[in-house]
Parts: sequence; C-alpha cells; structure tokens
Amino acid sequence: MIRRMVYLAAALVVLAAAFFSPSIAQCAFSPGESGPASSQLLLPPAAPSQIRVSVLKTGHTSAPEIFTYACGSLFHSVGINHTAVLIEHPQGNVLFDSGLGRGVDAQVASDMAWWAKLLFRFEKDTPARDQLDAAGVAPPRYIALSHAHWDHASALVDFLEAEVLVAGAERTFMAAPTHAVLPSQVSSSAIRWREIAFENKPYAGFPQSADIFADGTAVLVPLFGHTPGSVGLFVTTKTGKRYFFVGDVVWNRAALRHARPKFWMMGAIVDNDAQETGVALRQIAAVMKANPDLEVVPAHDAQAHDELGYFPSRRE
Ligand SMILES: [Zn+2]
Repeated sequence: MIRRMVYLAAALVVLAAAFFSPSIAQCAFSPGESGPASSQLLLPPAAPSQIRVSVLKTGHTSAPEIFTYACGSLFHSVGINHTAVLIEHPQGNVLFDSGLGRGVDAQVASDMAWWAKLLFRFEKDTPARDQLDAAGVAPPRYIALSHAHWDHASALVDFLEAEVLVAGAERTFMAAPTHAVLPSQVSSSAIRWREIAFENKPYAGFPQSADIFADGTAVLVPLFGHTPGSVGLFVTTKTGKRYFFVGDVVWNRAALRHARPKFWMMGAIVDNDAQETGVALRQIAAVMKANPDLEVVPAHDAQAHDELGYFPSRRE
C-alpha cells in the first residue's frame, strides 16, 4: 500500500514537472531587439473630441492565474470577461469586437470541437445588441475586429447593418476554420467586411496605423501574432484620456507588467505565432512605459474592466 502511494506521489511530481516546467522556463521574454526610441513612442497631443467609451460585458468565466500568463499564481483565481467596447463618435458608433452574441450557444454547439468546448467554458451575460437596444443607443456604424476568434466575432451576425473592419491577413486566416474560428460566425454573406487600410503613418511607435474617422480619436494599429491579422485600438476621449485596447495579445495587464507570455500550453493552443505575439507584447509594454497615463485594456481582463465600469456607464 505504502509502495503504491509512493509510486502515485512520484507520478504526480513527474506530471506536475512536465506541466509547469516549460512555463517556468518561459517566465519572461528575452529583451529582444531594441524598438523605436522613446520619443517615437509618445502619443500625439489629444485632439478635441466628443468621444465616450464603455465596456459591454457579454460573458465571463474565471481561471487560476497561471493559465492566463506564464508563472502566474496557481492559487489565485482571476476573472475573465468576454467583451465588446463601445466608442461613441459623432460620425457613428464603433464596437471594438462584438463579444458573445445572441447565437453563441448554437454557434459553439455546431462548430466547436469537444475539447475546445471543455477548455473555453463560459457563462453568458447580455449580448451587446440587446444591451444597446435596451438603452436606445444607435447600432454601430463599424465593428473593428481585434481578431476573428469565436469569443470576439460571435455577435457580428447581430449587427448586419455595421461594416466590419478587419485586417487583410485576418480575412485570409478566417477562410480556413480552426478550433477558435467558427464558420457559423463569419461565413454569412450578409456580413459587410471592409479591409483595414493601414497607412505608413507611425503612431506611438507603431510603423503603420489606420485612423477610423481621420481625426485622431480612434486609431487602429497592427498587433499581428496572436492571429495573423490581430489589431489594437487607441481611443482618445472627450477629456483627453487615452486608452489602448489590445485584444488578446495578453489576457491581463499583469502579463504586461511582468513581460510574460501566455501559459505555454494555452499559448500553444491559441497563439498563431508565439514569437510575433511576443514582439507585440513588448511593443505594448514599451508604449505603456513611455505614456504613463495611457490605460491599456486587454479584451479579457475582468479587473481592468471592473475599474473602467460597465455599460451603460461611460468614460469620457
Ligand atoms: Zn479572446
């Protein structure tokens, strides 16, 4: 009996070592190539605007911190939200991502592999369309998609009047379904896609950018890596406050503070190109350092969203 218990304990130790050791080895990125000079990382002066911003919570779950970034705590549970971000602009509203939509259960049931369903379990909150309709807020003119994964694209079909801004590389990526890109979410011929026209105009150290309203209030930048066409969105509000919504480059701000990649196993499942994702992470960390007032908001970081507050409350 004792011998059996010793064997069992030894097997558990070996399993734990196999599970966690790659994560420990990847606790932090190497410094990598030096990026732009810090003066180039500074945000341009805030232009006057009427912009308000708000987070719409459409679903949630939680997980031990270690599953969200390398060398996070095994014992500390963190909140994970599924969100859309509303940017209210005089020329039309924008959603950054769409969150979990009205049809998410059917989409997941029909298109997601069984193991992915187990891994990506979620609790539903109110879909973005229902939240906006109930509050009498005009549907978005644009949805800017950080990337095409299921938890970001689920509600595209709830907003068929919107144009969906997406990077060209993401359109190619979406053409082949994967465990995280669901055809039922992105294959409708009624979705009005528009490729993001990135220009060679540097913005906060990013060599390319796309200014949605050509007024500096909502500026998309490439953050390729997590998926081939992942993008981030800089927003400047009425009071001059700056936000940077960074999609899934990282799942929480702690990963940025510590410059840590995702937990190796989750990164292997969700990051299309781990090295490029690391480059994007370092870019974001550098911009944060150069602009201490900039608020960086990952798509799933419930703590960051709690601090911002949720729709219908707005930040100006
Ligand atoms: Zn996601």
